[in-house]
Amino acid sequence: MSGLSELDGGYDVLVVGGGGAGLMAAVEAAERGASVLLVEGRPEIGGSTAMAVGALTAAGTALQEAAGIEDSAEAHFRDYLGFVEPGRSVEEYDLELTRMLVDLAPSVVERMIELGVEFTGPQPEPPHTVYRMHNAVPDATAYTRALQRAAAAAGVSTRTGVAAASLAADADGAVSGAALADVTGAGRRDVEVGGGVVLATGYFSANGQMSRAHGRPLEYDDVEPLFDGATGDGVTLASALGAATAGMHAGAPPHFRTVAKPYIHPPAGIFAAGAILINRDGHRYVNELEGAELATSRQPGRVGFVVFDSHLAARVATADSDVPPPRDGWYRQGKMFLSTFPEIGYAYLEDYRQRTGYFVEAANAAQLAEFIRAPASAVRRTLDRLNEAAAGRAPDPFGRDLDGIGPFAPPFHALGPIKAVLGSSGGLRVDREMRVLNGEGRPIPCLYAAGMTGSSNVLIAGHGHALAWTFATGRIAGANAAAGGVAQ
Ligand SMILES: Cc1cc2nc3c(=O)[nH]c(=O)nc-3n(C[C@H](O)[C@H](O)[C@H](O)COP(=O)(O)OP(=O)(O)OC[C@H]3O[C@@H](n4cnc5c(N)ncnc54)[C@H](O)[C@@H]3O)c2cc1C
Repeated sequence: MSGLSELDGGYDVLVVGGGGAGLMAAVEAAERGASVLLVEGRPEIGGSTAMAVGALTAAGTALQEAAGIEDSAEAHFRDYLGFVEPGRSVEEYDLELTRMLVDLAPSVVERMIELGVEFTGPQPEPPHTVYRMHNAVPDATAYTRALQRAAAAAGVSTRTGVAAASLAADADGAVSGAALADVTGAGRRDVEVGGGVVLATGYFSANGQMSRAHGRPLEYDDVEPLFDGATGDGVTLASALGAATAGMHAGAPPHFRTVAKPYIHPPAGIFAAGAILINRDGHRYVNELEGAELATSRQPGRVGFVVFDSHLAARVATADSDVPPPRDGWYRQGKMFLSTFPEIGYAYLEDYRQRTGYFVEAANAAQLAEFIRAPASAVRRTLDRLNEAAAGRAPDPFGRDLDGIGPFAPPFHALGPIKAVLGSSGGLRVDREMRVLNGEGRPIPCLYAAGMTGSSNVLIAGHGHALAWTFATGRIAGANAAAGGVAQ
């Protein structure tokens, strides 16, 4: 239901945000007998969760056992620390909460299976030393749909187009209610909350001011967030009550995603292997190995196309190299994949041809230009110039070392349009009960956070760990809010 009509004056639990964490918290609280109101600011439920590929990485699952894979949380945690980015150290992260993520990940897979979600895999992802990536069928909407069904069955009252505008606290500082606003401006309404409020408003990448306060350079202002609902509202609401934050960072450079669902992220390695970028005018516009994302956000329509030739295409794995059921031929044979992809884990050329409308295999420059919707003459000239530079007859206008690239030979392959998008990491400081902590490290009574809003400075890296954290913490926060607050 949308809007503020027919709301009760009070609920045991208020969940703010209807993405994966909020849905999971609402289901958990309602199944424990609490009356639950879930408010979602956007017209539809799902959040960025519903945009996701759907990978969930976990150790010791029934799916691993069925595939004959022995695994443990200890091994997963050891491997996971290998995902810390170069230049950052393991000690910068909250390792207790990171270990909690790893420990709870298999229970998330089990819970999703209980709720009717099917998985493929497990699949490999270095530096994991065993196959741990489980992929939802058909994609992450399997989670949000299953949770929406469970929420309806458990009696959760859900309102879309309603945002939490502020929180109220009693004389002891315990959160006791919230002011809710219809996002169309059609009114406001206060609700009382007896047990607890769960803040699950996701990332803060769409909040320019908050992002700049956490390291985003001004030059990134041209780049769009992928999801407008990444408001940072949970952080704003809790900060007004003295909450502390941890690990908040928005300074990471933008990354590429396809403009079309499932918002695929082409791996950086594809450019290092020889792919180039062409814009809607048919021109190359940047050294693809340096700042290509920012440059793309300044092109016509803010998009570019990844283009590669038959030599690079021959280095991409094919389904023939896979050992069923996992999509692992690339891994076994040291070949490339084009991206991670819903359901199958990793996509090859054939998958893009069959499953997407944003890929072409072009016999010549004219067909390539048709796909990009650029003038054929411009695309032909771009490829000629590239080949001239690659052959050493002219300098590359963008200063790229083209050694080993070219001559660009047909068939040409293009993937796109792709655009640069910004992310954010970190959020409210929480403890293992997902209680929101204040500046002195004490819980703010009856206030919980889950998912990215409560991501503190947990290590969230690689594929499948963000969703593991999102759902695991949604469960904890929902259960504790339903219990009327664990010992504060
Ligand atoms: C394209 C893409 C692919 C991804 N693929 C994977 C993957 O395969 N595996 C993985 O582990 N992770 C993946 N991730 C990351 C993962 O999806 C997210 O980390 C996770 O879903 C975040 O869940 P959340 O509930 O915290 O936030 P969200 O799902 O974003 O939900 C937050 C909700 O809160 C709402 N909201 C905001 N402010 C308010 C307010 N004041 N009042 C009411 N509602 C409000 C928002 O509109 C939104 O619906 C992917 C992310 C993207 C974008």
